[in-house]
Amino acid sequence: METINTTRSLCPVCLKPLPAKLVLRENKVYMQKSCTSHGDFEDLYYGDAALYKHIMEEYSLNKGEPSNSELKLDISLPVRGYSTKSTPVIGIIDVTNRCNLQCIVCFAGCSSAPTLYEPTFEEIGEMMDTLRASEPPCPIVLFSGGEPTIRKDFFEICTLAHEKGFSFIIVATNGKMLAAQEDYYEKLSRSHVDIIYLQFDGLTADPYLAIRGTDLLPIKLKAIQNMKNSSTAYPNVVLVPTVIKGVNDHQIGDIVKYAAENISKIRGILFQPIGYVGDVNDERLLNGRITNAECLEQIEKSFNGKITKKDFVPLAWIRDFLDAYKRIYPEAKTINITTHPGCFSIAYLIKHNNELIPLSRIFDLDKLRSFIRNLEPGSRSEMVTKFTLVLPALIKKDGIKFSGKLLSVIKDLFLMGAEEAIIRFHTENVLLVGFEHAIDANNYDCDKVENCCIHYSTPENDTIPFCAYNLLHRNRIEEKFGNDKSGKNG
Ligand SMILES: [Zn+2]
Repeated sequence: METINTTRSLCPVCLKPLPAKLVLRENKVYMQKSCTSHGDFEDLYYGDAALYKHIMEEYSLNKGEPSNSELKLDISLPVRGYSTKSTPVIGIIDVTNRCNLQCIVCFAGCSSAPTLYEPTFEEIGEMMDTLRASEPPCPIVLFSGGEPTIRKDFFEICTLAHEKGFSFIIVATNGKMLAAQEDYYEKLSRSHVDIIYLQFDGLTADPYLAIRGTDLLPIKLKAIQNMKNSSTAYPNVVLVPTVIKGVNDHQIGDIVKYAAENISKIRGILFQPIGYVGDVNDERLLNGRITNAECLEQIEKSFNGKITKKDFVPLAWIRDFLDAYKRIYPEAKTINITTHPGCFSIAYLIKHNNELIPLSRIFDLDKLRSFIRNLEPGSRSEMVTKFTLVLPALIKKDGIKFSGKLLSVIKDLFLMGAEEAIIRFHTENVLLVGFEHAIDANNYDCDKVENCCIHYSTPENDTIPFCAYNLLHRNRIEEKFGNDKSGKNG
């Protein structure tokens, strides 16, 4: 068996840090590690070895670094689980661990959490300050939980985030409140919420019964209908399915098609292959390991080759744009996207005449990337001129009809700034499809965690990468800062 990489992981039993090997077998990548007390472990790491090698060669930040895991192993791992090389681009604040559902799968472990954890309005303000104090300041705050919308002061919290200067405010919700109250969407809009992450596991009852313990489909559809009925255009909706092999992976393509049909409101889908943290006990669910690669295969199948794996790029693809932007305009406070290529895959799909056309069929993404990497600094209008001149060489045959639109996006980017350009780009028939694979103790990879751009903000004035928080820190933080030590149901 060929070892294609090494990294640092944990023993899934005692959480002791361990060196781990990534090995190749039948075009899949597996993680192998061995604990002196608990034996050998193996788990699927990436479901397509050729794709893994490609994205690591093209997009890895650690290219050229020695990969001797014995040397890199950090003895502070059991305490922190990571050392941070990244700053938060999305900062998550859990506003409560109370929930109006009792999901079978919950990475926050809400059903079993012994302590009520609900920071005060003032504490939440301080947690926002921690995010804004990072360098560069964290631009996006995501309110999560528990179910954040059950807090009575939730609109005030969102408004405070706006006052603190966050560019984007995201609310993660199961949609029950949006379904029950027809004006809830407008209230979120008035509270400056930009994006609603709507938990959405499929288009039939089965996935909800398996994952949530009850059929939530009617609630999801009602929530979406209420939002569509509203005269308010904003916030946009991003569907967030938890993906489990054998439970709902076969619905991935249908979910994309459903989103495209409702593109007036739904602008994105963020598929999350399951990570085994928090509340998961069910045998069928525990056998549902799936990675981004197999999810992309499902997309290929559903769209008969009109959308393929190759149309997706790691989030790191955007890094080159931001690096060029920083080189040209050093004064701009631009975010650093350090995300590991194995964590995140994205594609922009343009809806045109009821078809979805990946951006990669319009633009030659490789040529565009190398053009950007070699851009020399110049004024904003010089940049637009350079792009205008080179654009015909970057556009593919099928993309010519979109060239006017693309040029206007590029103009916005340089003349109005990245934020405005992103907002304008998303207000047309554009669907962002992403796959974000959270990790757990079985496939824990310090290289991923250290470069993670999604951090929780904690009451300790600290930020902790997403997967490290859920696996290693959530219980400790909720216990330490819990409001009611006798238990949240007591
Ligand atoms: Zn062990």
